Amino acid sequence: NSALAQADPEVAAAIDQELIRQQSTLEMIASENFAPVAALQAQGSVLTNKYAEGYPGRRYYGGCEHVDVIESLAIERVKGLFGAAYANVQPHSGAQANTAVYFALLQPGDTILGLDLAHGGHLTHGMRINYSGKMFDVAAYHVDDNGLVDMDEVAHLAREHRPKLIVAGWSAYPRTLDFAAFRAIADEVGALLMVDMAHFAGLVAAGLHPNPVPYADVTTSTTHKTLGGPRGGIILTNDAAIAKKINSAVFPGMQGGPLEHVIAAKAVAFRAAASDDFADRQRRTLSGARILAERLLQDDAAQHGVRVLSGGTDVHLILVDLRDAELDGKQAEDRLHSIGITVNRNAVPNDPRPPMVTSGLRIGTPALATRGFGDAEFTEVADIIAATLVADDIDAVADELRSRVAALTTRFPLYPDLGQENS
Ligand code: PLP
Repeated sequence: NSALAQADPEVAAAIDQELIRQQSTLEMIASENFAPVAALQAQGSVLTNKYAEGYPGRRYYGGCEHVDVIESLAIERVKGLFGAAYANVQPHSGAQANTAVYFALLQPGDTILGLDLAHGGHLTHGMRINYSGKMFDVAAYHVDDNGLVDMDEVAHLAREHRPKLIVAGWSAYPRTLDFAAFRAIADEVGALLMVDMAHFAGLVAAGLHPNPVPYADVTTSTTHKTLGGPRGGIILTNDAAIAKKINSAVFPGMQGGPLEHVIAAKAVAFRAAASDDFADRQRRTLSGARILAERLLQDDAAQHGVRVLSGGTDVHLILVDLRDAELDGKQAEDRLHSIGITVNRNAVPNDPRPPMVTSGLRIGTPALATRGFGDAEFTEVADIIAATLVADDIDAVADELRSRVAALTTRFPLYPDLGQENS
């Protein structure tokens, strides 16, 4: 009987169904998480009505006294979280945070050096038909045969192409990057260094992953992956001149009115990310990913051609390599979906199968850690995943696997107070 259900029963029903989907499945897409109810409330607030072009204390609209408080809180909190001197919390998304950095620091036609999309990079790191690939001259580095970023190649390409900006960061990579080595290469060739920590920002906030901020000229992130907040982007730097350029690239360069309702939810998430509970959750996230890697390295999986790229993980995700398996990425994703586990198929380096099929899976633990999972539950999840991937006859075991998934989702209720809100 909510206002939404009355005004628009179709949208309300679909939102209810999505809530039920999230509650009743195991979410293991590495880039997803569950924002706290407090952040959902902030994002669903009257702040959505407010125009606030400009920055706190320097707005182009009246009536900004309260959104100024909110945006200032978000800025101060995120600076504290990552030890940065300057922060812009207005980018609507991670892609826009990266765009703003490029607009601030580069000219069209300049050269950037980023990780190849097919080796774990992001679209915005120079993919051919992304704006980053169209506007800039792109050189791409890769991972080696062990699945590790090849720093010799990075150095070699940097010397050869003399990029104006080097991008360190990834969307699908199971290890930490050597930020000091990237810094040294950037210094050697006179390049700027941007780190895109979209995936691992939550681990950094918890002190469980090296912090790129001291090494990078500029660090970008999303706020909705391991960081666990609303969908959005941020930009951090310790350099006053760069901060000024970034602010003007975001507004008026790229965006109009900031999404103050999302910025409020970011502020809520940044506060939560400074807590002991959050650090504990990130520890469980890491431990869960390690448990998953170890399980899939066992003999039964190996005999079915299931491998773990780089032989393990240092972060919140693993990459399963199915190049030698009968199952392809699409079939593996569908199998897991059919028993209630959501993952995404993902190309592996030198993937022989087409991009819509792929020979890999990316599996992440942040959302389940948010749900409360610890080592015992991740051990059970890992076993369910292994059983699903090695089953010779999935139909024969699907019911049993589905009920093991249901036992976990029932024991760890998600958003228990949100049920039926819209109906
Ligand atoms: N940067 C990296 C490394 C990412 O993995 C992603 C998202 O997948 C982005 C940027 C883009 O974020 P958004 O989807 O919010 O634009």
